[in-house]
Amino acid sequence: MTAPEHFLLPTYARAEIALVRGEGVWVWDDAGRRYLDFTSGVGVVSLGHAHPALAAAIAEQAKTLMHGSNLFRIPQQELLAERLCRLAGMEGAFFCNSGAEANEAAIKLVRRAAHEAGRKNPVILALAGSFHGRTLGALAATMQARMQQGFEPLPAGFRAMEAPTEAALDAAWDDGVAAVLLEPIQGEGGVRPLPVEFLRAVRRRCDAAGAWLVLDEVQTGMGRTGAWFAFEHAGIQPDAITLAKGLGGGFPIGALLARGELAQGFAPGAHGSTFGGNPLACRAALAVLEAMDKEQVPAHVAQLGEIVARELEALAARMPCIREVRGRGLMWGLELDREAADVVAAARKEGLLVLTAGSKVVRLLPPLVLTEEELMEGLARLGRALERACGIS
Ligand SMILES: *Cc1c(COP(=O)(O)O)cnc(C)c1O
Repeated sequence: MTAPEHFLLPTYARAEIALVRGEGVWVWDDAGRRYLDFTSGVGVVSLGHAHPALAAAIAEQAKTLMHGSNLFRIPQQELLAERLCRLAGMEGAFFCNSGAEANEAAIKLVRRAAHEAGRKNPVILALAGSFHGRTLGALAATMQARMQQGFEPLPAGFRAMEAPTEAALDAAWDDGVAAVLLEPIQGEGGVRPLPVEFLRAVRRRCDAAGAWLVLDEVQTGMGRTGAWFAFEHAGIQPDAITLAKGLGGGFPIGALLARGELAQGFAPGAHGSTFGGNPLACRAALAVLEAMDKEQVPAHVAQLGEIVARELEALAARMPCIREVRGRGLMWGLELDREAADVVAAARKEGLLVLTAGSKVVRLLPPLVLTEEELMEGLARLGRALERACGIS
């Protein structure tokens, strides 16, 4: 007999545990073991597991109208678009179902708007080490050889910037550049915050050259860094942003928000999605926004972020295996001198779930609603896991 797991294409190296239930920052596996979840399902379950208001909103909407298609008006979608645009200083939204799809929409929007403006071969600049998703367009903008390898030919029209510096921006720039696509903090690439000075320089360059700045806030958006959106920390306004992970609190939904010329880039029929922005997904995201407002989540995250910074620096000071601590809000990376997978495994033994970002970075993305007490408990468990994995006792 072939066990059911052998019927999955092997895209993931999965841990040998199956999660079956969650509540707040805690999850349980099928053997009844309890873990503190500092992964949030990779930055998704921002309100924690089984949030009562979110679960109730989804259940109620499922019983009322789950899907009706974009051939008709969808009041929940209109409301969500308005709320997000007002929060992000944008003028229009397009909804889809994932981060990669949101970036595909952004790529198509930039190209279409460039063509409208008479620019024939628009180039999109992206940064070395970026991650924008697994679909072919998003993958072409993902400047990591290990992710692109074997999937050639990739779509043309993307160019790498080698480092987050003005010199690298100059080196990559020419008249063909229509847009720059950046994560304010690179997530999958190792939790690398871009210097705010660099983000401001890119903004200035785009303004001077008539190019657009598109920020991929799929991981950093929706309160993760202690502001609604990470671009706020740099005091700049992008022309478009993409959102997904935390937007639906666990329900799949992605979004592209745009303003100015980019908000005029699509006409009816230019782009679309069967499921995108359906009543159920939008109702979930509206419930997330409402709960985040009520619980003042961005401010809470900013406050906890200060504590994490202090505690992780203290850990790094006594553990030579930690090379660097990077992050903001509740998005952190510990760069190690060894394989991060060993720490992830040791943490699991301590009843703590954490992520990697590349081979040597341990990544923390806890639910945004965790209490200071839960945070300290998680960091204590992480400390013990690091001691074990780094051979300190
Ligand atoms: C996760 C992620 C994506 C891809 O999102 P999917 O929903 O997996 O397609 C894109 N960009 C960033 C910055 C991400 O972190």
